[in-house]
Amino acid sequence: LTGSDEQMSPAEKEIDKALRPLSFRDFTGQDKIVENLKIFVAAARRRGEALDHVLLHGPPGLGKTTLSHIIASELDANIKMTSGPVLDKPSDLAGLLTNLEQNDVLFIDEIHRLNPIVEEYLYSAMEDYKIDIMLDSGPNARTVQISLNPFTLIGATTRSGLLTSPLRARFGINSRLEYYDSELLTTIVKRSADILGSPIHEDAAYEIARRSRGTPRIANNLLRRTRDFAQIKGNGTITVDIAQFALNALDVDHNGLDEMDNRILNTIIDKFKGGPVGLSTIATACGEEAETIEEVYEPFLIQEGYLKRTARGREATELAYVHLGKIPPQKIG
Ligand code: ADP
Repeated sequence: LTGSDEQMSPAEKEIDKALRPLSFRDFTGQDKIVENLKIFVAAARRRGEALDHVLLHGPPGLGKTTLSHIIASELDANIKMTSGPVLDKPSDLAGLLTNLEQNDVLFIDEIHRLNPIVEEYLYSAMEDYKIDIMLDSGPNARTVQISLNPFTLIGATTRSGLLTSPLRARFGINSRLEYYDSELLTTIVKRSADILGSPIHEDAAYEIARRSRGTPRIANNLLRRTRDFAQIKGNGTITVDIAQFALNALDVDHNGLDEMDNRILNTIIDKFKGGPVGLSTIATACGEEAETIEEVYEPFLIQEGYLKRTARGREATELAYVHLGKIPPQKIG
């Protein structure tokens, strides 16, 4: 359910596209970031200049890609999409950069995973809109400098801590997206249901929102699955009973934790006496990548107070014990 775009079928991608907000006005939440971006975009447009480079960070599914499309559209500019791991060689980057028109947007997802050599090339491109390209090799090798059209780089990352400082320093605008509260997600669920043509009761929209880990992508996924249940088990209308039935069938518990969230907490408590225990040990015991636990699961579990990060590792909190119906260890002293 936390899965990203790559795991979607073509039909699901179509629906995802239909649900994507297209303008700042359609975009719910992240008010401060949106208010600021509106000003920066309007100012850049008035001056006829490229918008400053933008770094968007935060857990997956909170709207980084969506916002980038909106920024480009509000700038009346084209957007080219790529991602850190895809840009293998400097020539891959050069090819993209030299094809940008004036004030276009280049979006690099997972920018913390750029190859360091490619990253070096990006510095001068970002700073002076210039890149040095190496022609030939061996004794004939020489570099030529190519001027680029002014452009805006939008970098997205789930792990801003992994960005090198020279790269981070080159972003004039730096925004951290936060998890959404249940009210905002209710608005998003109702908007999506409306686009899908699915009648939904207010309390059902809230139930889905409340159990979506603060994440619009998950809220939309749960809505789509709930809609299936409503069509097959009900009369098409999403009621709170249908929503609860569907969410339980999808292993989303009453607090919105999914199967992996619960597996992580159970593992720390049952196998490691509640911690502290290291991330890689948890990952091995849960059969999940350490990186995924750190980027996707842990931030939400920490924010909701189920997990603590200490110098010696991860610890389950009392709330985690209570949530799982287990007895917390007695505090000493
Ligand atoms: P990220 O790039 O941060 O992983 P995306 O921009 O791909 O996240 O968003 C995931 C999905 O959630 C999108 O398909 C979009 O429909 C939806 N979404 C994200 N943010 C919002 C929002 N603020 N309002 C409505 N829908 C949103």
